[in-house]
Amino acid sequence: MSAMSEVPVVPHWIDGAERAGVSGRTAPVFDPALGSVTKDVPLADAAEIEAAVASAKAAFPAWRDLSIAKRQSIIFTFRELLNARKGELAEILTSEHGKVLSDALGEITRGLEVVEFACGIPHLLKGEYSENVATGVDVYSTRQALGVVGVISPFNFPAMVPMWFFPIAIAAGNTVILKPSEKDPSAAIWLARLLKESGLPDGVFTVLHGDKVAVDGLLTHPDVKAISFVGSTPIARYVYETGTRHGKRVQALGGAKNHMLVLPDADLDLVADSAVNAGFGSAGERCMAISVVVAVEPVADDLVGKIVSRMTALTVGDGRRSCDMGPLITEVHRDKVASYIQIAADDGATVVVDGRGIEVDGDKNGFWLGPTLIDHLPVTSKAYTEEIFGPVLGIVRVGSYEEGVALINAGAFGNGTAIFTNDGGAARRFQNEIEVGMIGINVPIPVPVAYFSFGGWKNSLFGDTKAHGAEGVHFFTRGKAITSRWLDPSHGGINLGFPQNR
Ligand code: NAD
Repeated sequence: MSAMSEVPVVPHWIDGAERAGVSGRTAPVFDPALGSVTKDVPLADAAEIEAAVASAKAAFPAWRDLSIAKRQSIIFTFRELLNARKGELAEILTSEHGKVLSDALGEITRGLEVVEFACGIPHLLKGEYSENVATGVDVYSTRQALGVVGVISPFNFPAMVPMWFFPIAIAAGNTVILKPSEKDPSAAIWLARLLKESGLPDGVFTVLHGDKVAVDGLLTHPDVKAISFVGSTPIARYVYETGTRHGKRVQALGGAKNHMLVLPDADLDLVADSAVNAGFGSAGERCMAISVVVAVEPVADDLVGKIVSRMTALTVGDGRRSCDMGPLITEVHRDKVASYIQIAADDGATVVVDGRGIEVDGDKNGFWLGPTLIDHLPVTSKAYTEEIFGPVLGIVRVGSYEEGVALINAGAFGNGTAIFTNDGGAARRFQNEIEVGMIGINVPIPVPVAYFSFGGWKNSLFGDTKAHGAEGVHFFTRGKAITSRWLDPSHGGINLGFPQNR
C-alpha cells in the first residue's frame, strides 16, 4: 500500500520477481470508467535502471546459448497459457485502459499472432551457406542475438504493442527490458508472471516502470543494444535521435492521421460500417483508427447520413457492461480531444454529431466523450492537421480521386490509409501512388498479420525497420558472414595479393 493514497502499488519485475519501487516517485493509475485512482505505479530512478540492465545483461549469455529448440518450447508454452488465460488479461486491460472487453480480447489475439510467429524462430534464424566459393573455401552467414534490448510502449495497446516485439526478441536469444506506459502498467506484470510460468529463466524479461527518467536511462545505457519504441511522433523522434546518438539500433513508431478515400462507386453501406468501426473502436485511441473520411463527390451527403444513423445507435459506457465504446484514458486527454471539436467548429466546420455531454452507461466521473462527426472539416484547421486520438471523425469533401490522393500525400503522417471502391484499376493505382506504409483496399484497419511487418512512413516511423514479420527478426539479430577453409595438407604457400577466387 502506498502511504500517500492507500491504493496498491504495481511492482517492477526484475530478476524474475516482483520488486517494489524505491525511488519514492510514483504516478497514479486510473480506472477511466470510474474516474478514480485504483493503483500507483512506481517511476524508476537511476539505481533501479542499473539493477534492471545488470540483471538482463547477466541473463543474456546463458539464454543466447540455450538450444533454439528449448527457447522455442518456452515460447510454445507461453502461447498455450496466454491463449487459455487471455480473459484475465482482458479484464486488466479494460480496468486500466477503458476499452470494452471484446476489444481488449481482440488486442490480445493480435498479440498472440506474433507469439505464434515467434514459435517459428528455428526457421526464421536459418542462415545461408555457399560451398566452394574458392577451392576448398566455404562462406556462410548467421544471425545472432544483440544482447539487452529495450521496448518502450504506449498506453493504447498495453498488451499487443509489447507483444509486437518481445516474443521475437526473446525467441531470437535477446533479453528484454519492457518500459510500459505508466498509464496502464499492470498488463506488463501479468505477462511477466506468465512468461516465468512458461519456464523463461529469470532476467530474460524485465519490466521497469517509469517516465522520461527510465526512458532516458535505457536510451543512454551502454549495455542496451537496441530500442523498439511506439508512441507519439515528438517522443518517437526524440527516442530515435537520442538512441542512435548513443550507438543503438532504434525503431521508433510514431503517431498517425489515417484517411479513408471513398470513390463514388463504393458500396456506401460497407463504407459507413467501416468508418464507424475504425473511427470509434477503442474510442478512436488506435494508431490505425480512421480519423478522416475523404469523400469524392457526389457521395458525401449520402455517406454522412449513413454514418450518423450508425453512430447514434452506439452505446457508450463502462467496458465491463457490453457497451460499444468505453471512456478515454485520462481526463486531461478527454479534455484535449474535446477541445478539437471546438477548434473545428471555430474554423467553420459543421459538427454533425457532438459527443460532448453524452449520456453513458457508467459512472458519471468516468472520462467520457461520445462519438463525434465533423463535416466540411477545413484542411487548414488543427482538427485536420493534428492527431486527435479520440472518437472524432472528420469528413473532407473532394472533387476527384486525384484531389484525394494529393491531400493524403500532403499529410505529415504516413501510418495507414484505406480506399473504398469497386474499381480494381483505381485501387491498384492508389496502392502504387499513395505515400503511406500500410494500405487497406475495402478494409478499414489494415493492420498486417504478424508474418508481415507493421509500420508507417514519414512521421509515423523513425528508423528503417518495421515491427514483427521478417523485419522484426532482422531488427533483433545482427548478421555475421564466415569464410572458412579446412586445410588440405597439400595446400599452403605465400601469396601477398588480395584474396580472390578467379
Ligand atoms: P507517448 O508518446 O506519450 O508515450 C509513449 C511512451 O513514451 C510511454 O512509455 C511514455 O512513458 C514515454 N514517454 C512519454 N513522454 C516522454 C518523454 N518526454 N521522454 C521520454 N519518454 C516519454 O504516447 P501515448 O500517449 O502513450 O500513446 C499514444 C500515441 O502512440 C499516439 O500518438 C499514437 O498514434 C501512437 N501509437 C503509434 C502506433 C504505431 O504503430 N505507429 C501504435 C500505437 C500508438
